[in-house]
Amino acid sequence: AKNNGKNNYLFYTSKMNEIAKRKITIETNLRHALKNEELTLFYQPKIDFNDGKITGAESLLRWFPNKDESIPPSEFIPIAETSGLILEVDKWVLSTVCRQLKKWKDLGYPDQKISVNVSGMHFKQGRILKTLGDILDEIEIPPKSLEIEITEGIFLEDIKESALILEQLQSMGIDISVDDFGTGYSSFGYLKRLPVSTLKIDRSFISNAATNSDDASITKAIIMMAKLLNLKVIAEGVETIEQVELLHAEGCHEMQGYYFAKPMSIDKYEIFLDKL
Ligand code: C2E
Ligand code: CA
Ligand code: CA
Ligand code: CA
Repeated sequence: AKNNGKNNYLFYTSKMNEIAKRKITIETNLRHALKNEELTLFYQPKIDFNDGKITGAESLLRWFPNKDESIPPSEFIPIAETSGLILEVDKWVLSTVCRQLKKWKDLGYPDQKISVNVSGMHFKQGRILKTLGDILDEIEIPPKSLEIEITEGIFLEDIKESALILEQLQSMGIDISVDDFGTGYSSFGYLKRLPVSTLKIDRSFISNAATNSDDASITKAIIMMAKLLNLKVIAEGVETIEQVELLHAEGCHEMQGYYFAKPMSIDKYEIFLDKL
């Protein structure tokens, strides 16, 4: 048994070394990728339940270091967050989305809203205000065509500071969506104190909403609360017709998920926009 324990220890340390090495490799390569056009954005359409039309999309980061390799955001975003590189990543994403919005507008595509995931780190010391201010000074788009997705985590830090930052974003005309809603640990009290405009119900509830009565209840409760508070409510990760029917019956405003479309390249997304 003693021997075994020692082997386990060796196994774990070598495993830990591997993980640490992979982290360092990813961090170094991501720095390079930012300059080297290895990053690209995919767009996943959002559908309005009222008329079945696309209202816009969520931008999702993709990293293709080479032709047949891809590193998922679930792996590199957390690493970018611990190293601080996330600030550069967010800037790249925001300016790329704004330039794309401008292009679509110039090409005559109908108005749409693109939502962008921004890391909580970007809200510390109000950095997001400078980032967005600089970008919107340079790239002329209607601010209403941009929405920022944040997670509840930022409200745990300093609610007064968060309120100030969100109010300034609001006065710039930018909408705020609370992503992964229902999974955080913050109280609902912030909903009446902060100028958020959208709640995005987390996929974990939607996945089981048609089969598990607790998840269905949570989903229904979030939709009802959003409507009572005059917020827009959207469901993410919608994959089945049963989920679509439940959400429709409850009066959810918008949906997003594989049932309708996966995140896709610009070329493919433009085909959807053409049909509007
Ligand atoms: P998220 O913001 O919650 O994004 C939703 C994730 O669910 C995306 O994964 C999307 O591809 C996936 N998804 C959408 N519909 C379905 C569905 O019907 N079924 C299933 N199983 N999955 C679905 P993705 O693209 O791998 O992104 C993972 C996370 O990485 C995101 O979660 C977000 O937290 C982060 N992320 C992605 N892009 C960015 C970015 O540009 N900036 C920042 N800061 N974070 C990003
Ligand atoms: Ca999101
Ligand atoms: Ca989400
Ligand atoms: Ca989620």
